[in-house]
Amino acid sequence: MSSLWRDGRNHSLSHERLDRMPADEVRAELCGTSDTLESLFGRRPLSFRPPHGAYDDEVLLVASDCGLYANVMWSAEVTTGC
Ligand SMILES: [Zn+2]
Repeated sequence: MSSLWRDGRNHSLSHERLDRMPADEVRAELCGTSDTLESLFGRRPLSFRPPHGAYDDEVLLVASDCGLYANVMWSAEVTTGC
């Protein structure tokens, strides 16, 4: 669960690199995580933090379709590659 909900942000289901996935898998990761979080916590996250800091234009486009914007302003996890 900790990987699903951190500071109210979507952090993907599988924690795989989203920039290496086809768009439909990225959609399942991001929209699916938001659906799960909503069912568990009664609210949807507004932003997501790409696992490993890896994203591209396609990831951002899919994220916006899921009502998410990328939040890559983390600090400590950069050094851990999370
Ligand atoms: Zn992570």
